[in-house]
Amino acid sequence: MSDRRLRLIGDPVLRKRARELTPDEIRTAGIQSLIDEMIEIKRRADGAGIAANQVGEALRIAIAEVEGVNPRYPYKPEIPLTVIINPEIEALDSETFVNNEGCLSVPDLRGNLPRQVNIRLRYLDRDGVAHSEVKHGLTAGTFQHEVDHLDGILFLDRVVDRSTLATWDEFERHQKEEFTTRITDFVERVGS
Ligand code: ZN
Repeated sequence: MSDRRLRLIGDPVLRKRARELTPDEIRTAGIQSLIDEMIEIKRRADGAGIAANQVGEALRIAIAEVEGVNPRYPYKPEIPLTVIINPEIEALDSETFVNNEGCLSVPDLRGNLPRQVNIRLRYLDRDGVAHSEVKHGLTAGTFQHEVDHLDGILFLDRVVDRSTLATWDEFERHQKEEFTTRITDFVERVGS
């Protein structure tokens, strides 16, 4: 039995740089069941993604998935279940946008931060197969958030204007309408 549970801000594992996995390691039963548990914990919490250090393992594995309308982020385009191992992100240009993010490891807080609009994402999937894909907009933002976790970085570290920090209720009350309008236009323009 594993005691894997969601780790919250203040747990030192969230501030560690997670380590790379070897192709042999990826195929082990231990890593495959860790991936299954991460998927389950992410889905139970309605997250858009999860990184291995968020469940206590400082390994470079993360997951992104947005199925239908996510209750936490209803404006996010869908992302099919994607397991990324040893991911690398390359910005394709200097264009950035202001995103509003939250995090399963930072309960009840959201805030605005800049993200790259266009990225190339390289990673191994759970079978060890290499992928190289271009991502845009909010989807690119989700992958940047997850790869940040693997480097010990939380979204809070990137919040420039701290006056945008809000609880989920206050975001709903004061920021959601304006943000949703802006970000919906943006998603239409840049795609995912
Ligand atoms: Zn997070």
